[in-house]
Order: sequence, then structure tokens, then C-alpha cells
Amino acid sequence: MGRLVMKFGGTSVADIDRIRNVARHVEREVKAGNEVAVVVSAMAGTTDRLVGWAREAAPLHDAREYDTIVASGEQITAGLLAIVLQEMGIPARSWLGWQVPVKTDSMHGAARILDIDASGIIERFAQGQVAVMAGFQGISDDGRVTTLGRGGSDTSAVALAAALGARCDIYTDVDGVYTTDPRIVPTARKIDRISYEEMLELASLGAKVLQTRSVELAMVHRVPLQVRSSFEAPDSPNQNTIDGTGPGTIVCDEEHIVEQQVVTGIAYSKDEGKVTVVRVPDRPGVSAAIFGPLAENGISVDMIVQNVSEDGLTDITFTVPQKDLPRALKVIEGCKGEIGYEAVRSSGSVAKVSVVGVGMRSHAGVAADMFKALAARGINIEAITTSEIKISVLIDAAYTELAVRTLHSTYGLDGE
Ligand code: ADP
Ligand code: ASP
Ligand code: MG
Repeated sequence: MGRLVMKFGGTSVADIDRIRNVARHVEREVKAGNEVAVVVSAMAGTTDRLVGWAREAAPLHDAREYDTIVASGEQITAGLLAIVLQEMGIPARSWLGWQVPVKTDSMHGAARILDIDASGIIERFAQGQVAVMAGFQGISDDGRVTTLGRGGSDTSAVALAAALGARCDIYTDVDGVYTTDPRIVPTARKIDRISYEEMLELASLGAKVLQTRSVELAMVHRVPLQVRSSFEAPDSPNQNTIDGTGPGTIVCDEEHIVEQQVVTGIAYSKDEGKVTVVRVPDRPGVSAAIFGPLAENGISVDMIVQNVSEDGLTDITFTVPQKDLPRALKVIEGCKGEIGYEAVRSSGSVAKVSVVGVGMRSHAGVAADMFKALAARGINIEAITTSEIKISVLIDAAYTELAVRTLHSTYGLDGE
């Protein structure tokens, strides 16, 4: 018996039959005596369709109206699940972000949760009612509907769990966090336990199984978090959770992981854009002249490489999120006078492949193995970044799958 937040993603609520299946998972937890809040995503494909309509209406649109449109997907699922639960004799009601309320800042399309007042939900718990909250949405100070960025229902769920002092189970279309995306590497293995830190790196480096912000919140508020499958039979015997092994992957403190690998997982992201500023004068202040204006325009730069200078001139290559590439090029062109370069080249067909593991802190040679393995496959590395627990390389996007598979076997992660 305890308090529990159960989050179900788009594929898990894709049609009424699947929503019925979700309701059976909820029923199991209610019958076990738990106070349950459910957080739902929009039905699979719905958010993409809504985003498409907003763009079709006007490519450059009012971000507040974008949020009004895309938040609607979750409203439908919340209502449907509440009805299905009621049909099964389980008292339930839907909660939209503003009704809770889930208070956010005003960064429409990528808002951050500031506070959740869960007292209304807690009152209803006392009456035996299940709360079904629409994920992905909140309300700003000026009373407008906001959304939390794609994949944001994970964050709604973890934030609600933090506010309720509950644990959080994220139900999705895979049965846990894998050593890499099981869709591209069939030999990927399910990880039983992963540290918050590693999960945070994997998520921010492209593993879409959890939204990055949700992991950050779980880590800060010490929310016990589990990723598991909604397609496993709701009445399957292995329902043991957080304290035991759990049917899925438990995200927890590093100290609670007995067997630690050097490399835990591999992530990739094709959402990168590369810019090379060609033949820049190699003098003090030139990096500031390039990266200062990018920062002022809110464009975050990830990897940076400066080539060896010849005749006092050098090439500087860096990456930005692909969606920001056109803007980055505009900014650099606007500063041509101050920087004094010869040309600018760019590419949107690059990918970042990263290996992650807390074991790297105490192990030498992880980077060397990575570079050797990629070289043996003829994959050229265009840029490198490292942190204490990860190494990322930038490569031609055409080789992404090959690179991920190669590294997966290099570090002994392949299962049967
Ligand atoms: P949901 O709609 O339930 O939020 P998502 O599509 O956002 O589901 O996330 C689940 C998907 O994440 C999986 O289908 C899988 O393809 C992908 N994924 C990427 N990296 C990983 C990983 N390391 N482990 C598990 N799944 C991963
Ligand atoms: N429906 C939203 C999306 O597709 C939020 C989510 O599913 O987490 O991004
Ligand atoms: Mg998701």
C-alpha cells in the first residue's frame, strides 16, 4: 500500500482497447490498496497531427495558440480513461493541467513546471478516487495553457509524483531501458537498474525513452522511478516493484547498483546541425566573436573543434540543434565583419553517437576503444566531446546505425 503515479505513453493509449488494458493495470494497483494518480499522453499520432495543423495554419505562429492546440490531445485521453475506469466500477475523474493546477513558466512549447498543488487530488484520494491527469500541459502565471516540450508527459508524471510524495511507474511500449534503442539494435539488453546520472546522460544524448527533464526532476526530488511495459498482462505475477527487482528498469542512486559495467548504454541523436567557419584569423577574441552572438540569440552550441592554424588562419567547426541551424547561419553571416572569415559551410546530415557509463570514471581506454572500433568500420569522426561519464562523437548521419551496433558489441553489451 502506498501512493503511486502511473504514466502511460501514446502507444499504450492508442485506441479504446488499449485504454481498457491501461485501466486493468490501474485496477490492479487500486485493488492492492494504493492511492493512484494516472498521467496520460495523447493517443499515438495525435500530437504530430495537431502540430501539423498548427504549422499548416501558419508556419510562424503564436506559441500560446500552438500550446492551446497541442495540449488538446491529452485532454481526450484523460476523459476516455476516466470513463473506462468508471465503467469498471472504479471511481475516477480527469484533471487538466490548469485544474490541478500544474503551474509553469511562460516558455510556450517548452515550459518548465514551477509548482504543482496536489491538495485537490489528495482530497479525492481520501474519497477513494483515482486521479487521471492530462500530461504534457500546465498553466502559466497569466492564465494561458502551456506545454512542456515533446515527450513532456514523463515530466508531468515525475513532477506529480514529487508533489504527492509518490513513486512513479512509466509504462511504455518497451519493457524497460535498454543498452541502446532496441528498435535499431535487436541484440540490445534490458538494464535492470540504472543510475539517475547515467539515465540523465542517455536521455539528453537522444534516448527518447524518458524526457530529459523528467530524469532531472526524479534525481533532484529522489523520486523512485521505474520504466516498464504496458503490454505485459495486467495480471501477470511479476508485479514486484521498486524494492525488489521489478518487472522493468529501476532508475535509482548509484549506490544501489551492485554490478556496474564500464559502459552502460549507447545513445544517438540525428537532431544535430554542423557549422564550419572557414579560414578565420587565429587571434585572441575570435571564439568570443563567434560564440558570443550565438549565445545572445539563445542558440546552444554543443561540440566545438578548432583545426590547427596555417598562415594564421584556422577552421572552427561546431554543432547546434538541427532546428536552430538556419538561425545559427544567419547569426554568423551577420557577424562576418567582426569575425572576418572566408566562408561558412553547414550540414544537417550529421549524427551524434555517445557511450555512457559511470564506470568510465575509474577506467582508462574507453575512448581509445571507441575510436579504434569506428576507424575499423571506416567511420570518420568529425568532432568529439567528453564528460566524466560519457564520450560523444559526431559522424555522418548515414553511418548512425552501423556506429551504434559496432560500439554496442565493442563494449560487450550484446545479449543473445
Ligand atoms: P511513450 O509514447 O510511451 O512515451 P516513447 O516513444 O516516447 O514512448 O519512448 C519509448 C521508445 O523509446 C521505445 O519504443 C524505443 O524505441 C525508444 N528508445 C530509445 N532508446 C531507448 C533505450 N535505450 N531503451 C529503451 N527504449 C529506447
Ligand atoms: N503527447 C506529447 C508528445 O507526443 C507528450 C508525450 O507524449 O509525452 O510529445
Ligand atoms: Mg515518451
